[in-house]
Amino acid sequence: MFVDRAIIKVKSGKGGDGHISFRRAKYEPKGGPNGGDGGDGGSVILVGDHNVNTLYTFRGQYHWEAEEGEPGRYKQQHGANGSDCVIRVPPGTLVFDEETGEQVCDIKPDERVVVAPGGRGGFGNEHFKTSTYQTPMHAKPGEPAVERTLRLELKLIADVGLVGMPNAGKSTLLAALTRATPKIANYPFTTLSPQLGIAELDQDRRIVIADIPGLIEGAADGAGLGHDFLRHIERTRVLVHLLDVMPDNERTPAENYLAIRAELAGYSTTLAEKQEIIALNKLDLLPDEKERTAKVKELRLKLKLGRDTEVVALSGAAKLGTRELLQKLWEILHPKGLEREEKWAPVSEAE
Ligand code: GDP
Ligand code: MG
Repeated sequence: MFVDRAIIKVKSGKGGDGHISFRRAKYEPKGGPNGGDGGDGGSVILVGDHNVNTLYTFRGQYHWEAEEGEPGRYKQQHGANGSDCVIRVPPGTLVFDEETGEQVCDIKPDERVVVAPGGRGGFGNEHFKTSTYQTPMHAKPGEPAVERTLRLELKLIADVGLVGMPNAGKSTLLAALTRATPKIANYPFTTLSPQLGIAELDQDRRIVIADIPGLIEGAADGAGLGHDFLRHIERTRVLVHLLDVMPDNERTPAENYLAIRAELAGYSTTLAEKQEIIALNKLDLLPDEKERTAKVKELRLKLKLGRDTEVVALSGAAKLGTRELLQKLWEILHPKGLEREEKWAPVSEAE
């Protein structure tokens, strides 16, 4: 399985201290105690949010802290409570206490788990007065903050699979599209190692892409991809079928396309039936736009593609058309009508 990992340090807010003070009024030289209670510190809360699908955010932020409660004040004024620190994680994230190794939780969609409770505010001296004890000189300090180091682990499901002949440029494209490369567990049954990357359109829109190492490369030497990996890539939602515009195997891009399609069909019907984007790659090798258009046209004719089948023109190495490809993938993965704003609402309301 592809496992994405992150270590974070969380700290809740300390409770505000209780206050010590006495009423001061004309004709009342010895007023009673009126020190207010401290406010409660904020908690650190993990929320399962299905709009978040990787742990990528945590590469950039290690410390997550809630606010402290404010101390109480005179005239029985209660200190303000500190705000919580809400951390959105993908549902399915396993959370471990890094020090004890103990599993803290397995986050479900929309679930909220307090991983570090805020300290309660301390009582002000007003709280301690009794009929016989009118001048309490003490108040309670707020409860301390809770600090923990947490390990987050998420089994990543790739949204997109890259297929194509050896040397079609899959690895290069993956590197061009993605910045993060999660650690990948070993696949004992295969000598091929799948590559996974996280592409980022912007901070909230991420796509997990798996380079499915040549089905052909594996099949030829009998390596095969292994059942685990196959099951995994069968859960991708879209395939990008990458074609070298000038193949090094004496065949045309159209011939290579058909060869890979045949391999896919023989390998897994589930994979073969996936939605597919055809991408003509290495277009930087052609001198101008006219030749590029001509090559795309030629491919369309040879494959007898209908008007509704698009061919994306690309160069992974020169990063031409890569952003457009991501945009297209995003639209397929997140069809209109399921806008993000809508899906964010329930969580922010609850805060
Ligand atoms: P893979 O076997 O499909 O993973 O292909 P690689 O990414 O390893 O690329 C195979 C070869 O093609 C390498 O020599 C790359 O430098 C080259 N290559 C990959 N993408 C491009 C591209 O967009 N333009 C050009 N000119 N060469 C590329
Ligand atoms: Mg490769």
